[in-house]
Amino acid sequence: MPSSARSGNGPYWEERAVFVPESIGVVPIKNERRKGSTTFMDYDLVVIGAGPGGHAAAEESARLGARVAIVEKDKWGGVCTHCGCIPTKALLACSKKYVDIKKLKRMGIAVGEPSFDFSVMKRHQNQMVRVSSLGVQKTLKETGVECIEGEGVLVSPEDVDVVASDGVKKKIRAKHIVIAWGSRPAIFSNVEFSDRTLSSDRLLFMDTLPGSIIVVGGGAIGVEFATFLAELGTKVTLLELMDQILPNEEREAADFLEGELKKLGIDVHTSTAIDSMEEMDDGVCVRAKCKDSDREFSAEYALVCVGREPALRTEELDRLSIAYDRRGIIVNDRCMTNVENVFAVGDVTGGILLAHRAMAQGRALASDLFGGGSITYSDAAIPAVVYTHPNVARVGLTEEQAKKEGLEIEVKKVEYGGNIIARTGLMGNGFVKAMFSDGVLIGVTIVGEEAAELIAPMSLAVVNKMTIQQLRNWVIPHPTLSELLSIV
Ligand SMILES: Cc1cc2nc3c(=O)[nH]c(=O)nc-3n(C[C@H](O)[C@H](O)[C@H](O)COP(=O)(O)OP(=O)(O)OC[C@H]3O[C@@H](n4cnc5c(N)ncnc54)[C@H](O)[C@@H]3O)c2cc1C
Repeated sequence: MPSSARSGNGPYWEERAVFVPESIGVVPIKNERRKGSTTFMDYDLVVIGAGPGGHAAAEESARLGARVAIVEKDKWGGVCTHCGCIPTKALLACSKKYVDIKKLKRMGIAVGEPSFDFSVMKRHQNQMVRVSSLGVQKTLKETGVECIEGEGVLVSPEDVDVVASDGVKKKIRAKHIVIAWGSRPAIFSNVEFSDRTLSSDRLLFMDTLPGSIIVVGGGAIGVEFATFLAELGTKVTLLELMDQILPNEEREAADFLEGELKKLGIDVHTSTAIDSMEEMDDGVCVRAKCKDSDREFSAEYALVCVGREPALRTEELDRLSIAYDRRGIIVNDRCMTNVENVFAVGDVTGGILLAHRAMAQGRALASDLFGGGSITYSDAAIPAVVYTHPNVARVGLTEEQAKKEGLEIEVKKVEYGGNIIARTGLMGNGFVKAMFSDGVLIGVTIVGEEAAELIAPMSLAVVNKMTIQQLRNWVIPHPTLSELLSIV
């Protein structure tokens, strides 16, 4: 810690960073009765799991006047806060600032040879995680949700037992139960995570940067890790089974990003199927079938990012006869399971594994249960962002998907290079591609700086099925990067 921060005379960000508390404490429990050492509680709703999905369902239900409890066995905020969205974006923010310094010369700004201290970056990552976790606890507390620490066990469609880490048991009875157990990293059936073969969770807890790494899987998580590691100097090899990285995205966007990753020095191999992964004393050897040959790749570590699997607790699901398959708990578009009064939201339901989709499900479910169903959401308008540098962001259909669906489409494309604010900020690399069918906006892909922010208004336009004419009536301030969205 810098001495200026200790003495309280340093810049405000140092002081604030130092004073982030670990916890704001647990909300005092109401609605409880005791019998011996067991506590009994009644609620309108109990949510199991305090990731984005569970948190949103609990908070919105409490806002609508329901008596709500939420149970968390590990950390408030779930994967998103502790080993997903937040820590990765904190590290990507650090690596981006570091590489951007090198561009400043073009603007006449001299800063000398940049360097970094990874331990300080890790401190920043950990502080952002704490801030986010505290934010979750604070909003739950402010909306009157009762936060219960412990493992929630489904006993019946209206009963949940909670076992706290000190062994104390609580029995909760609720009119409705929401399962929000989340997901965990997946791995090949014949490989195990270890000190050398890392999951994304594990890599985020490492205190030193690997000298070299093989990232297995070129989906969103794999390319984000590849980006910040390469920007900070790790030698990165990226292996992807499909014939493009980001297989769910527009091919044009994936090809563009592949070019950018290669510029960062990442050795990218698509159409590459892993045959075996072998650990040695000082590293990992991955054998793979590449396009036209068998290849061997070696590095200090392998990072396996081949997807995530639902965190199913099958014994409990079977006990209650709740239907599930390998993708997750089966729910309808109102998050209802096949068992009355039992609902599920977020990654545990499979489909789009994103925090804001989990939150959208949670909010819509709360609205169905306690607010007359006025909040709706559609998987078709869930934006997806990859926080590489540049970002890749999409909402709605890609060109390939639209053609597969047999839609006649009109494609409009705008280059970042044609936008003056992009040019002034040295961000003139990228494009916006929009697709219309029968004059209605059905999909937008943006590759470029701030694409994560620019996609937000486009998602409003897609969900509201806006027409070319309506978009023409939209006035965007000049000069802004947002003028890139003036696509018609
Ligand atoms: C590296 C990485 C980066 C990501 N980046 C992004 C991103 O930038 N944007 C984005 O939208 N998404 C991102 N995601 C995905 C996002 O994190 C998930 O989609 C999101 O966290 C899912 O929320 P959830 O509520 O379904 O479950 P989770 O966040 O998985 O939370 C589930 C919670 O339930 C608790 N729990 C489980 N069982 C019990 C039980 N029996 N009793 C009590 N508690 C229980 C768990 O401890 C956990 O806290 C990322 C994921 C990863 C791994």
